[in-house]
Amino acid sequence: MRQWIDTMRARLSQLAASRQRAARGPEDPEAAGRKKTFQERQAEARLAVAVLKEWSRIHLRRLAHLLHGATAENRVVGPASFLLVAATLGTALTLTTLYSTSYAVTVDGDPVGVVADQSVVDQAIQTVEATGSALLGYDYQVEGDVDYQFALTLKSDLSEERDIQNYFYGQLNELSDQLRAYEVSVAGRAIGVVKDEDALHQMLDSLKAEYSTQDTVSAEFVEDLEIGYVYAVQDLMTIDEMETALKANSTGETTYTVVQGDTFNGIAYANDMSVSDLKALNPGVDINRLMVGDVLNVKELIPTLSVRTVDHVTYTEAIECPVEEVEDSSMYKGDTKVLTQGQEGEARIEADVTYVNGYEREREITSSTTLREPTTTVMAVGTKEKPRTASTGTYRWPISGRITSYFGGRYIFGSYSYHSGLDISASYGATIKAADGGTVTFAGTKGSYGRLVIITHDNGTQTYYAHNSSLLVSAGDKVYQGQAIAKAGSTGRSTGVHCHFEMRVNGTAVNPLNYLD
Ligand SMILES: [Zn+2]
Repeated sequence: MRQWIDTMRARLSQLAASRQRAARGPEDPEAAGRKKTFQERQAEARLAVAVLKEWSRIHLRRLAHLLHGATAENRVVGPASFLLVAATLGTALTLTTLYSTSYAVTVDGDPVGVVADQSVVDQAIQTVEATGSALLGYDYQVEGDVDYQFALTLKSDLSEERDIQNYFYGQLNELSDQLRAYEVSVAGRAIGVVKDEDALHQMLDSLKAEYSTQDTVSAEFVEDLEIGYVYAVQDLMTIDEMETALKANSTGETTYTVVQGDTFNGIAYANDMSVSDLKALNPGVDINRLMVGDVLNVKELIPTLSVRTVDHVTYTEAIECPVEEVEDSSMYKGDTKVLTQGQEGEARIEADVTYVNGYEREREITSSTTLREPTTTVMAVGTKEKPRTASTGTYRWPISGRITSYFGGRYIFGSYSYHSGLDISASYGATIKAADGGTVTFAGTKGSYGRLVIITHDNGTQTYYAHNSSLLVSAGDKVYQGQAIAKAGSTGRSTGVHCHFEMRVNGTAVNPLNYLD
């Protein structure tokens, strides 16, 4: 029996060693992302079979004793005994797959854990003693008589070295409650160690509170946050330093300083985002008035530890009017006219809005109640083919040239003069073109205008082209935008060849520079 225990101990320590390797992670082939090799599986299987055999052997020997005693009296193996043998064999098989031989560890009679191998305890003691010695400055030794009791344990119930360590750290901790510190890890990366656990939790709560409003129903950290106990620590962080580290931006430079020649579109393009994305990151910035030295956010600031909040909000939202289109053959294609303006409706919306670090990520409408139905907008839609001579509503220059006199009133040599149009210099006989499509409503000679063309556009606006040498159109003609209508000259009250271009809106002369493209 003694010998068997020794053999078993040797085999089990092999097993424990391989289990420990598995638990440690990086060496575990499955954790490392590769499948166990055939050889590794075979070795495991061989080991399991060996353990099973040893178990069967020891139990069968006990059964043999039992049966021997029984048969000595009865000379016959009864069905009960046979069943007992069979059940025991079956039990042995079950036991070896679910259970492990192990040692219940006690220190001065206190249960500490159950290990597959005593070396687990030795290792834990060594670690704690090394830590204690380093901290206390003398050769520290754990106290108590360690005792092992052979036992059968569910494999899943075996203690890890860390559990055993923590028992002994408890002893060390009693020596000085200053020893324990708290290590903060984010997504598996150690950030640092702080001393004050309460202050740490307070600070973490305040990180969440920064993004919380009265509507917030949940706030949590996005990354996996772990707080572990550590004992041998040289560099402690203050809570403020920890807070700074957790808030530190993890995505590099997030701002851009505007330089000469930058445009909002250009900056958006250079940072691979849409103009609306860039706008969203820079509320309060007038995109048309960028100044050199302005600092724009070009990337979301993503702290080391992000906070996800969900707000439950209630608000009202307009419901757009449905539009009913009515065809109108008297209107040109593409033209529309509102016949009846509908009234927007209103809905009360309840939504769960998810934010990460204050930026909206998702909006889930949980209920929508119509408070007021919208009414329909009725719109006439033109079906008539648009002629080339239809007005476009835009105005082109009748001729390109230098402006020799602007629109408006001024005093020249003490006397007031009013100029009702633009004078554009031209060479004699140059072509004057219609600023937009329309109908010629005057073509002839008219006082100081000399030879004049007036075009009335579809919206009633009129354009005047004066001082021409000859006219190419007649009253009643339909003309298209850019069509030649006259030749430049100096007829009427004129001091040189030019085109006097005038625009009248609702019969009043306006500054053409406000209309010309
Ligand atoms: Zn003029």
